[in-house]
Amino acid sequence: MDLINISEFDSSHDLLLPPFMSHIDVDKSVHRHEERHRKIREQLPRQPNYSMRSELKRLKTHWAQDPLSGCSPKELASAGFYKTGLENSCQCFCCGLVLCRLSISPTPLERHKKFNPSCAFIQGKDAGNIPIYDIRVQPKEIDPIDVKVSMENEQTRLQSFTCWPVYASIKPCELAETGFFFTGTGKMVKIDVKMDGAKYRTILEENLLESAKDLRLGQKFVFQQENDPKHKAKSTMEWVTNKRIQELEWPSQSPVLNPIENLWKELKTAVHKRSPSNLTELELFAKEVWARISVFRCTKLIETYHKRLAAVIEEKGGATKY
Ligand SMILES: [Zn+2]
Repeated sequence: MDLINISEFDSSHDLLLPPFMSHIDVDKSVHRHEERHRKIREQLPRQPNYSMRSELKRLKTHWAQDPLSGCSPKELASAGFYKTGLENSCQCFCCGLVLCRLSISPTPLERHKKFNPSCAFIQGKDAGNIPIYDIRVQPKEIDPIDVKVSMENEQTRLQSFTCWPVYASIKPCELAETGFFFTGTGKMVKIDVKMDGAKYRTILEENLLESAKDLRLGQKFVFQQENDPKHKAKSTMEWVTNKRIQELEWPSQSPVLNPIENLWKELKTAVHKRSPSNLTELELFAKEVWARISVFRCTKLIETYHKRLAAVIEEKGGATKY
């Protein structure tokens, strides 16, 4: 999309001059203005400016520079535009489109749509906009993805970033190129012997802190496990205490409270769909599907947690729809 060589003059609206101005050469004048506008656009950076994600911050730029502007500052700010400081121009924080004319009609939003319909903000995507009166829009939950290729493929890794926030300073292509993919879950481990207390502790030792590190949780995470005898073995409890891991107190026999059950179900369905024909495939598919459960799916489960809790209390510990 060429955002430099655009004309903000619309012949049907702008070129009708009253008779006393008939001596003005309209075409020449418009051309002169367009040239000036083009020079302004060329001087401004063309990438998104996420420091202007806040509508209020954008509004303040209009108030500061031009409190009596012919164009409504509120309309400009809510259409994504902040004042650049170059003459009267203002720019979209998301796509970098520059408007140089303060015409009331068409509105800034209409002009934004006209000149760059592909702007993520205009398309209603999560472009990081922070509206004045609303809390941030929650990212849409993505559908479970049918995993066809492993994460060894750069293109597949890139696809894992579907819901990556556009305002993050590092770009998905840079991350995918260097081997990263976007994930919401910790490590999944294959257990090939009978699980007992000692094996469970080894699994924790080898994976829990590493998962916390991978997910960038720092020291602030709370560990949740059910009251299985293996989980509650003395040696396991000692290990948890020694590592200063904060553990969540957990009621007995309450799988409905545990969000992991939802993820297990999704995992089973997705792996089953791919019909693994041997144990190696089963492990591979399970790990792939697990790795691609999005961070937003996990967030969603946590967000709805209070409803789940209320339902259990309501049913006095009996069956709920969850
Ligand atoms: Zn835009």
